Amino acid sequence: MVVVKGVFGKTILDSRKEKTIQVLLKTDVGEFSASSPNGKSRGKYEKEPYKKSIDNDIKTLRKFSDYFSEEVIEEFSDLLGVEDTVGDFVGANTLFAFESAILKAMSKEQKKDIWKLVNGEGRKFPRLVGNCIGGGKHSHNEKKPDFQEFLLIPKEKTVKESFELIKKIKDNLKHELKISDQKFKDKKNDEDAWETSLNEKEVLDIVKKLQVPFGVDIAASTFHKRHKYIYENPALKRTREEQIEYLSSLIKNLELFYVEDPFEENDFESFSKLLKRFPNRLIVGDDLTVTNPERLKKAISMKSVNALIVKPNQIGSLIEVKNVCELARKNNIKTIFSHRSGETTENILADLAFGFQADFIKTGITGKEREAKIRRLIEIEKNLE
Ligand code: PEP
Ligand code: MG
Repeated sequence: MVVVKGVFGKTILDSRKEKTIQVLLKTDVGEFSASSPNGKSRGKYEKEPYKKSIDNDIKTLRKFSDYFSEEVIEEFSDLLGVEDTVGDFVGANTLFAFESAILKAMSKEQKKDIWKLVNGEGRKFPRLVGNCIGGGKHSHNEKKPDFQEFLLIPKEKTVKESFELIKKIKDNLKHELKISDQKFKDKKNDEDAWETSLNEKEVLDIVKKLQVPFGVDIAASTFHKRHKYIYENPALKRTREEQIEYLSSLIKNLELFYVEDPFEENDFESFSKLLKRFPNRLIVGDDLTVTNPERLKKAISMKSVNALIVKPNQIGSLIEVKNVCELARKNNIKTIFSHRSGETTENILADLAFGFQADFIKTGITGKEREAKIRRLIEIEKNLE
């Protein structure tokens, strides 16, 4: 059993140089820390990252610091006791970092990998989903694709081979972009993906030639205003019906395998129409479902998605993450564990994805924050050989 002797929060900087929380845990088996990432294209229905502010959460943790010494912390489900105590008083980023630190302490005390605390049985590795070119809110270019992410989804035998492949492809893409994009400046975006002034169609024409399954995160809520999708490159407005037709033509003509957030976060119905047309592609909810079992239930009842993004800090509670994964599995919905655009070098996402037997893990491809997660997954894979 882990005995918690104190809990403290502090601010650190994420990959965007914005403040995020790191939680430090003092226990009878040593000191542990974990941090949370920050989203930029955050869903409206996500839990707030902090109760009032990051500093307020840090104060709250200090107030509660002595409360956990009596708590029985032996297994994953004991996180529920922690959530009952502090869950209502801190935000989702703080709760997630706190629970991650607890799992690290349990892992040390039981000499077990974190994924084994989640589920020791699983052996399937998630497929990598790697952002190679970025647009939308994540890009700093003046002219850019309206879609947020262009994703490579390799299907090599091992995680290691998949990683090598997409790293090489991403590197080569630089030359392709230089040829096709007069304004290309060798710059990377928030997730270390290439920035370009091309539009989504031009980018997809390039990505299509790479001979690796691919997809997009449209993050459609970020450019949906007053009932229209407002495209800037080129400038035009699409109604929801026009958006369905446009996306259908892209999916068909370009063999898109994965489409995340094709419509704004309230439009379960259009998701459902698209899934009905393309039951063999992945129609993925992120801002739509926000790792929330209630939102997923609605998406299931309306047949809106066949896959969902799991971002633990959208909900904060790892018990809810478990609930959402179980609900997804029972309903044949694929899960994609995902990083955020503002990341830290925290790598627990890999253990959670493997432990929960996720189908995919979306982490980006390069940069120390993204690679930390992939490298941890490769380490798990190597240890199991
Ligand atoms: C996403 O939309 O999938 C994403 C990673 O964005 P953010 O972290 O900025 O919310
Ligand atoms: Mg998304």
